[in-house]
Amino acid sequence: LFIALEGIDGSGKSTQTKLLTDQLTRQGHKVYSTFEPTNNYIGKLIRDILKGNTKADYRIIAGLFVADRLDHLLNEEYGIVKKLEEGFTVIMDRYYFSSYAYQGAHMDIDWVIQANAMSANILRPDVNIFIDVSPEISMQRLHANRDTIELFETLDNLKLVRSKYLEAFEKLKAVEQICTIDGDRTPELIAGDIWQKVASMLT
Ligand code: C5P
Repeated sequence: LFIALEGIDGSGKSTQTKLLTDQLTRQGHKVYSTFEPTNNYIGKLIRDILKGNTKADYRIIAGLFVADRLDHLLNEEYGIVKKLEEGFTVIMDRYYFSSYAYQGAHMDIDWVIQANAMSANILRPDVNIFIDVSPEISMQRLHANRDTIELFETLDNLKLVRSKYLEAFEKLKAVEQICTIDGDRTPELIAGDIWQKVASMLT
């Protein structure tokens, strides 16, 4: 089973990745949980750019995400394709829908979708779980949980990224499995809904 968790900043993806990993592990599944951008060689470069240390055009950033994603899938050491073959359930904290939403916020979304066709052909998630939090609540959470708010984490940006997620889901609903969860609630309630969905796919 290959599960992608998606959502804007402050939607609680990392918390939910952990809770889902724990739940699956308790049920006896071998779980490999991972994230994008990766900590591998291309992912490190992306993080450097997102921090503002290295300058790059948005088209270059979109291309680097494509490359990081392909390496994350195909690498002989840590590649997800191999992990799935070995019987792991793979949980991804962000996958290509994050690119449609974040890179698509700055450039033609169809270009980003095209650029990711190779990843989609190699591995389409069994389900894309979208934790849909309202940008206002996300903003409150970001302020409550962090000392510093990143420059891009403005209400307008969160709204833009959410709208791009919705646009991408609408465009791809015929070929992608999408499960939207109301993210404006407590972590326990969100985890309960995610588990209900995942459990139904395990049987
Ligand atoms: O998932 P996490 O909150 O760690 O992501 C960190 C940041 O990376 C996001 O806030 C977003 O700005 C950026 N990102 C991006 N494009 C992606 C994935 C993440 O710009 N495809």
